[in-house]
Amino acid sequence: MLPRRIRALSRTYSRHRRSFASASSPIHSLLYVEHRSGDIDAGSLSALTAASQLGGKVTGLVVGRPGDVDSIVEKVKNLEGITGVLHSSSEAYTNNLAETITLLLASILERSEYTHVVSSHSSNSKNIIPRLSGVLDIPAVSDVMSVSHSPSDNTTTFTRPIYAGNAIATIKAPASLHTKIFTVRSTAFAKAPSSPHSSAKPSDVPTTHLETIIAKSDRPELGTAARVVSGGRALKNAVTFKETLNPLADALGAAVGASRAAVDAGYADNSLQVGQTGKVVAPELYVAIGISGAIQHLAGMKDSKLIVAINKDADAPIFQVADVGLVADLYEAVPELVKKLQK
Ligand SMILES: Cc1cc2nc3c(=O)[nH]c(=O)nc-3n(C[C@H](O)[C@H](O)[C@H](O)COP(=O)(O)OP(=O)(O)OC[C@H]3O[C@@H](n4cnc5c(N)ncnc54)[C@H](O)[C@@H]3O)c2cc1C
Repeated sequence: MLPRRIRALSRTYSRHRRSFASASSPIHSLLYVEHRSGDIDAGSLSALTAASQLGGKVTGLVVGRPGDVDSIVEKVKNLEGITGVLHSSSEAYTNNLAETITLLLASILERSEYTHVVSSHSSNSKNIIPRLSGVLDIPAVSDVMSVSHSPSDNTTTFTRPIYAGNAIATIKAPASLHTKIFTVRSTAFAKAPSSPHSSAKPSDVPTTHLETIIAKSDRPELGTAARVVSGGRALKNAVTFKETLNPLADALGAAVGASRAAVDAGYADNSLQVGQTGKVVAPELYVAIGISGAIQHLAGMKDSKLIVAINKDADAPIFQVADVGLVADLYEAVPELVKKLQK
């Protein structure tokens, strides 16, 4: 059973929606802007590009704890494509709980005529957007790779990957769906550049934030790195994973990634997982070491510019997508490669 406040928001939104559902409203998108340590997340910049492609106005929504929000609002104002900024600060927003952010988004949508709600396809948004969709009882489209709006019939058309990226679905949101909610695949849209040029109170929610654990690393960030070295189940354990892959990643200035098998076995942190249920990467160079190349893994890396695979099984499916393949025992090939790179 939904809490009373959410039931009320859902009812008011339905009435509000019916009152202008038949009208062809001018496009006005609400962009949920994610940020960390004083910087706007790269995924939100891609989401802004997607929102801009719809035409019309784009209002950024910045939410955070007091002290964090002001500097982000200034940065958002300077982004190309942004036409307005809403912001709300409260200690309750410190940890981006889906429950509090959803209430805020729902109360904004209750009062304003936004035609689209856009967010990046981040772990955070994957928590918030389905909840918002449930609260408002309207469908959401996730992991969108392209978007376009037709003013003549007021429909929005999206494409998104299905079957682990082996097929692309085209989804048309009809004019009768007044607010279209979607999350954006960051690698499918360029990041919006900077150009020089209502707040709602969080209600009490029955959720308490316990702890946020952020994996710290001196390496480039996996999602945006130009080079990625990934390891699979063949790396045996956390120690050999690190001892084998780190020297190669150091020599290449690369981020480290992992297959789900390696993550599930505890060799690597789950923030490093590449694939359908992990991160989607498209670096200049992707080195897959001891990874078989299951479709769910390929879904996260097959857009990489140059794929290098090292596997002792010549029939491993990874070789079907690799530009360069080496059939060898990784425990011999990788140290040899590191030695050559260090020369
Ligand atoms: C719904 C769903 C979602 C999933 N999401 C993901 C995802 O996001 N990412 C992901 O990666 N997987 C995902 N998976 C799991 C996926 O199906 C595979 O099980 C997984 O990718 C296998 O990981 P692996 O290649 O490391 O292991 P394996 O398939 O066990 O492959 C290990 C490879 O190492 C090679 N090898 C062994 N020893 C050596 C050696 N000494 N030298 C060289 N090569 C060696 C073997 O020949 C083999 O090819 C998902 C599965 C499901 C069902």
